[in-house]
Amino acid sequence: MLTMKVIVLAGLLSIVAAGPWGQICNGNPKNKVRTCDRHGCGHYGATLLNRLHKGVDVLCRDGSTVRAPFSGRIVSQAKPYGNGNAVDNGVQLSGSGYCILIYYIQPVKYSGSIKKGETLGRMLPMQKVYPGIQSHVHIQNCNLTDPTRYL
Ligand SMILES: [Zn+2]
Repeated sequence: MLTMKVIVLAGLLSIVAAGPWGQICNGNPKNKVRTCDRHGCGHYGATLLNRLHKGVDVLCRDGSTVRAPFSGRIVSQAKPYGNGNAVDNGVQLSGSGYCILIYYIQPVKYSGSIKKGETLGRMLPMQKVYPGIQSHVHIQNCNLTDPTRYL
């Protein structure tokens, strides 16, 4: 239990020290967040049907290059739905004191290290699945806390 507390504390300290994340999507230099559209809203904690939005949606046009927001390693593939639709892909990324899931991208790889700003993948064709939506990557902390302040 004590070991766990120390690990958690070390994680928090490195989050504070690491500073803000880099640009995530080409064409969105300030990591602007999706507002509301007819499919829902993009901020953390937004209500989606009967669920709570557990991440934050960073605007990204379909086909855009998506970059690693911090240096770390790709832990695994991570799928938002598991239904195989056109946007059902992503990765878990861990490092620099962070652990996140990034959804709706076609990643360049499913494992190995990656540096901040390096190409992580390409935005999938979200308009085909949700016509009229503000296309976006979904960023979710592994511990489900609000990632907005790191953007
Ligand atoms: Zn989302």
